[in-house]
Order: sequence, then structure tokens, then C-alpha cells
Amino acid sequence: MITYHVRFLCWWGLLLFCLKLGSRRELDYQLRDLEFHVLENVNRLAGTKQDSLPVNQTLSHFLGHVGSPALAQLRTDCVRRLIRNKVLDSTRLQGCFPIAVDGTGFLVFKERHCAHCLVHQHESYTCYLHPVLEAKLVDPRGLALSLGSEFIENPSEQTQTPDLSTLTSYETVKQDCELKAFARLAQSLKEHFPQTRFCLGGDSLYACGTVFSICARHHWSYVLTFKPGRTPALWEEFQSLLKLSPENRLTTTLPDKTQQCFRWVNDLKHEDDQGRIHTVHALLCEESGPAGKQTFAWVTDFRLSQKNVCAVASQAGRVRWNIENQGFNIQKNSGLNLEHAYSTDPDVMKAFYYLLQIAHLFLQMFEMGSLLRDLAQKHDTTPVGLFGSLKIMAQRLLDCFRYFQLGEAAFETSRCQIRLCDSG
Ligand SMILES: [Zn+2]
Repeated sequence: MITYHVRFLCWWGLLLFCLKLGSRRELDYQLRDLEFHVLENVNRLAGTKQDSLPVNQTLSHFLGHVGSPALAQLRTDCVRRLIRNKVLDSTRLQGCFPIAVDGTGFLVFKERHCAHCLVHQHESYTCYLHPVLEAKLVDPRGLALSLGSEFIENPSEQTQTPDLSTLTSYETVKQDCELKAFARLAQSLKEHFPQTRFCLGGDSLYACGTVFSICARHHWSYVLTFKPGRTPALWEEFQSLLKLSPENRLTTTLPDKTQQCFRWVNDLKHEDDQGRIHTVHALLCEESGPAGKQTFAWVTDFRLSQKNVCAVASQAGRVRWNIENQGFNIQKNSGLNLEHAYSTDPDVMKAFYYLLQIAHLFLQMFEMGSLLRDLAQKHDTTPVGLFGSLKIMAQRLLDCFRYFQLGEAAFETSRCQIRLCDSG
């Protein structure tokens, strides 16, 4: 029997995603060849002396043993290290790290897969879902780093299909689940990052008293999408006060000739359904440019002025979409295969989920970091331009990992520091 070191197996699992192999079985095909440098390179990364490569089942078995919370912790430690080393400081808005919160489909099964599945009843069929609520650090460059994940699921004792006739719509179920999951997510973020000040971004579902209260309790800021339907009285007050404060106005022109007109109102009072009074500020941005006319509105705890409205909109309000574009879409469609069931065991599939998040963090540092950018600048191009696409970049990384020995220089922290670059 061969015993593998924990670090070796963690790296083995991370390579599955860093090298975008797409499925567990590919570990056996793509990283098998002992005559290449694979074994030696994994040993070098892990600081181990294994004399053979494991098979892919060893990885699932290992993840089943360590459990998903250990991998979640590893993800948290990686992000904490980046924050401590000030790698992410340029993303800060008034001292806070902007994080976006949103839910996404993760796994979908045609038949009940476990006791925790959420049931989605379509007209002609039923499916069984495992959605996840993510908090990701986002910035205008396109970063989307996972800081917290809350799996939206039924508690284990509830194995019966919920009585859907008592529920008005699936949307109600989903929204209810998402805000409940957010309360748990916020709690765990506070535990893991007790001193870190965040600025929360989210869609209009989050623009409500529950979320204002959670943010106030945790000393976090927020910039949330503001829509008339979510809090109608607050929206009406905003509209009427806008007319009375013509001085709260700023127009700018973006490099692509888009005209932006910001208007805002400070100190709006909102009484929530629990009778709590919140003081909030609201910002409207009317845009006209090549993409046509668009209007955006946000509700925030940042007091607004000529000095900060542009930054609030660009660094917190608008980057919220990155969680969808740079976060979920890339994890689903770029070879990371987020929606692939790497395991059917409910806890092992979460462990794989965290490995994917850590690998995506590494890949973002690789793709957006200074090492590749410096090289690209020498060739008068961008990091992606060097290779053609992110997909080819992953293939080259795999080639290098198989055919070349990792050099000493890669492990010298003084020579091999990654900085995030200023421009996108
Ligand atoms: Zn399930």
C-alpha cells in the first residue's frame, strides 16, 4: 500500500483545475507519463518525496477523508495571504475591499441525487439542484476571487419534496433561500475575516433592511442595485428629493466617449419590515454612449459627493457584474468545468468545488499578474495575446508541467513575486 502526503494530494487535485483537465479521469491520461517531469514537479510543489503518481480515485478518496471544510479553510488561507501581503490593496474603495454576492447553479441532476437537493418543478419535468451563493472579491480589472461559498440546500432531515402548492413561485423559494443563505455566508465571512472591511455589492434582492442591518453589524459598507419594486417608498422619496437637489450632479466622459451623468441624494430614511430605521444614500447614473442609453441606480452607506460618485459607481456598483462574467461564466466555460459533477458524494463534490476556487485564484494571479505581463510587454502584446486564448494558455501550462522541470528560481520568493498590474 502506498501512502500519499496530504500536500501531495492537494496539489494533485489543484492541478486538475490549474491545468484545466476537465474531468478527474483526465488526471490518469494527461499526467500519467512517468518518463516526463510530472512526478518530480508535483513533489517539488508539495515538498514531498513520493515515488509514484496516484490514480484519480485516490483523490476522491482523500477528499472524502479530509472533508470539504478543510478545503474551504485552505481557500480562505490563500485569500488571507493575498490580503496580508497587500496584493489586493489597489482594489480598495475608501478602505474597503469590494465583494460581490450572487447565487449560481452549480450541479443539476435529473433524479434526486441526495437528501439536500433543492427541487425545481418545471411544467413537464422536475430537476434537482445544488446552487451555491458566492462572495467574490471583484475589481474593474476583471478579478473575481472567491472569499466565501454557501451551498443552498435543504437540511438533511427534510427528505420529502416540499409542498409546492403552498408556494407562490419558484422565484419566491429561490429568493427566500438566497437571503437565508446570505445570512449564513455573512456570518462565516465575518468569522474568517474579522478585521477586514468589505463593501458588499449585490442585485436589488439585497437592497433591503435585512442586508443593511447585517452590514452595519459587521462594519461593512455596501453598494447595492436599487430598483423601484424592491423598496417602493424609498424609491419614491429618492425621486422626489432628486428634483430638490439639482446641485448634486456630476457629468463625466469616459475614454470611449460614453457620457455619464451622476445625480444623488444623501440621508434617505428607510423603515424596513421589522420596523428598523436605516439611513442610506442613493446614486443614479444615466449613461449615453455607443451602447445606447442606460440608467443605473445604487443604494449605499457611503455618503455621496462630487469626490466619490465616480469611484462608487465604477469600483463597487458596476464591478458586481464581474461575479457573473469573470466568475461564474469563466468557471463554467473555460475548462474549469464548474457544472461537471467531479463526484456524486455530497461532501466530496463540495471539496472539488473549493479546489476549483483555489485553482481559479492561482490562474487569475497567473493571467493578470506581473510575471506574464512583463513578458507580454517585451513582445508588445497582452498576456492572452502571447498565447491566443486562455484555453491555449492552459495547454501550454500543461506542456510545461509535463516536459520541463520546475526551476529553482520559481521557488525564490525574492525573484518570483507576483504583483497585480494597474491596468486591465
Ligand atoms: Zn443532491
